[in-house]
Amino acid sequence: MKSLTAFLIALALTAAADDTEQRALQPDAVKSYAAPEITTFNPEGKAVLDVIVRPDGSVSGVAVISDKAHVADSARFAARKWKFEPQRRNGVRTKRVTFVFERARETDCAQRPTVRYESPLTVIVQPLVATVSCLPHEARTCEVHGTPMAIERLPIVYGMPAPPPPGDLKLREEFFAALQRDFPHAQHIVTGGDVMRPEHQMEVYICPKCREAEKRWLDAHPGFVRP
Ligand SMILES: [Zn+2]
Repeated sequence: MKSLTAFLIALALTAAADDTEQRALQPDAVKSYAAPEITTFNPEGKAVLDVIVRPDGSVSGVAVISDKAHVADSARFAARKWKFEPQRRNGVRTKRVTFVFERARETDCAQRPTVRYESPLTVIVQPLVATVSCLPHEARTCEVHGTPMAIERLPIVYGMPAPPPPGDLKLREEFFAALQRDFPHAQHIVTGGDVMRPEHQMEVYICPKCREAEKRWLDAHPGFVRP
């Protein structure tokens, strides 16, 4: 979340570094943006705000117009930090600002959310990624089989692992020993821990020969359920 926030802020600062003089001529000119922090699991939705701007360009208040409460808070906190171009002649003004939160269907790396400014007062935020994939995408071979591995997208499973049924412990130990020795790249899932995250799949190197070896082991131990 920290790097996401840093990235959003960096983007916001980049946008703010545009030609200030040119934008000062526009009635909606924003001097500096703050990107929203994402705290909800699924922030899809649109937040429409009325932002009250003091003559000096600072924000004195934000009223939420839309009813999407779960995204409105993120948008409201961000908009309060925005700075508009000062307009002394016009006194206090109200600007209608729209934040559109789009859930990214897929990106190539969890560290790359996107924010784009559709117009000075419309911000499109794609803060979530469905796929974690920071693999270098280079050819890799399995150290057991010497065969080239493929990249597969595996589901991330969240939650605490269930305790093994009684009596299965020895077989489980044998399975894990075989896994390390004979099929280390036969993975089928990725464990995501007990804190739910937005990502639901991860790219992993998989060896087809490891999958075959695992299948042979499971066939030889009927009734054993892969942990
Ligand atoms: Zn292998």
